[in-house]
Amino acid sequence: MTVLVTGGAGYIGGHMVLALLDAGEKVVVLDDLSTGFRSAVQPPAKLVVGDFGDMALVERIFREHSIDAIAHFAAKIVVPESVTDPLRYYLNNTAKARNLLECATRHKIKHFIFSSTAAVYGEPQSSPIHETDPLVPINPYGRSKLMTEWMLQDTGKAHGLNYVILRYFNVAGADPKGRLGQSTPQATHLIKVAVQAALGFRPGLEVFGNDYPTKDGTCIRDYIQVTDLVAAHLMALEHLRKGGESLICNCGYGKGFSVFEVLDVVKEVSGIDFKVQISARRPGDPASLVAGVGHIKSMLNWTPKYDDLPTIVRQALDWERRLHNKPMREKSSAEDLLAG
Ligand code: UDP
Repeated sequence: MTVLVTGGAGYIGGHMVLALLDAGEKVVVLDDLSTGFRSAVQPPAKLVVGDFGDMALVERIFREHSIDAIAHFAAKIVVPESVTDPLRYYLNNTAKARNLLECATRHKIKHFIFSSTAAVYGEPQSSPIHETDPLVPINPYGRSKLMTEWMLQDTGKAHGLNYVILRYFNVAGADPKGRLGQSTPQATHLIKVAVQAALGFRPGLEVFGNDYPTKDGTCIRDYIQVTDLVAAHLMALEHLRKGGESLICNCGYGKGFSVFEVLDVVKEVSGIDFKVQISARRPGDPASLVAGVGHIKSMLNWTPKYDDLPTIVRQALDWERRLHNKPMREKSSAEDLLAG
């Protein structure tokens, strides 16, 4: 059987493809390459360049391959962008996901693994956050993903599609074997931005708000290493294939770090100081998001291997150096060269 990975040329999806291939699975990737890289998908994985909301294309893939499972990563993921351009998020993360689900039901696909987000919880009332806590997203990104969770649950009930919804906390780091990492040129995520600042690829870094009700006034997040995260997806796939029930699980380590703490680790691991400026709060940011991880550990028997912030930061630094240690003319396609 073959796994269809939407967004498999992107950061997390690309690591999923590596993990699936490492496990001997057959993989078809569907990616429009809007933020992903062709080179992230290496044979024997097959890349189809296109839109996962294009039903004719998705149906063709289902006709041509024996797909038993979909791992759906393709999405827009930047919270502040979702605030300024909400309809783009409702189109990509909600409307197109609906089309994908319709194709899945028509072709009687059995298993669906969905990349959801801690943003579905909004501003949590208690910490750590449990899967049964209230779902009150405070930004369009979280709402666009929550609606897809609901569609998936309803579709699962009506059509016998088994699913695992994984609510990611903050994903960071890179493949420990150095094959892949975060390559998005205009990245906004904290660890990526901080390592770029440390390496001098940015003039410095803005801290978005130091007046939150947290220990040092900056936002607290639970940073999970990308290989650990995709390992949870493989376990989810195994669980579903063995006939396990549909699940919703948080994916994090259950530990929170403030923005200042992350910056200290980046400075310490890199040995480089860089300019940090305090700016206004960023729209849509909750003060603290820390995962309760009892459910994923008990249901999927998931045990993280890289639960260590300095290790995650070191991987991100190593990847960033590899991306940038290329002659200028090659930089735009640096990842194509690395992965090739
Ligand atoms: N952040 C920051 N400066 C940056 C990028 C992020 O202060 O250049 C903060 C952001 O406001 C949030 C935390 O770092 O409190 C994590 O943000 P990120 O964009 O990495 O992930 P998110 O939690 O929004 O998914």
